[in-house]
Amino acid sequence: MNLHELIKLKNMVLNGQDISYHDAIHLVESDLMDLREAANEIRKFYLKDSFDICSIINAKSGSCSEDCKFCAQSSHFNSSEDIYEFLEHKQIEDMAKHNAKKGVLRFSLVTSGKRLEQKDLNKAIKSYKKWSIKQYSQIFFVNNFIIY
Ligand code: SF4
Repeated sequence: MNLHELIKLKNMVLNGQDISYHDAIHLVESDLMDLREAANEIRKFYLKDSFDICSIINAKSGSCSEDCKFCAQSSHFNSSEDIYEFLEHKQIEDMAKHNAKKGVLRFSLVTSGKRLEQKDLNKAIKSYKKWSIKQYSQIFFVNNFIIY
């Protein structure tokens, strides 16, 4: 994508218009510095210099049956990663409070494994439903599903 086309797309976004899927795919052909400048201009226009902080905790660690090569939680590899079951509600709540005190507004739980077992899903739902966590921050559960 040449500079003229890139600037055209940038101006569309700055004017609140959507760009097409086709155009978005072809952004990758742009000069990297031009693309960076366009993206930065859009960021400044919409977000100024503000940002939100979010945080994740590992709510269930290790013993994963999958063998993702990059992951220390896979049981296929030797690692010094801690291994523990899904955290109890109080532990999650304490971490949510701690993060909220630090100004973290979004707090997510990430768990090892391909999917949550039913017992862990029930714990996740129970924790989410407890108002005491929701008042500290937005909370998300991330695995193969997201609840909010
Ligand atoms: S599925 Fe997730 S936890 Fe399991 S090995 Fe892959 S990345 Fe790690």
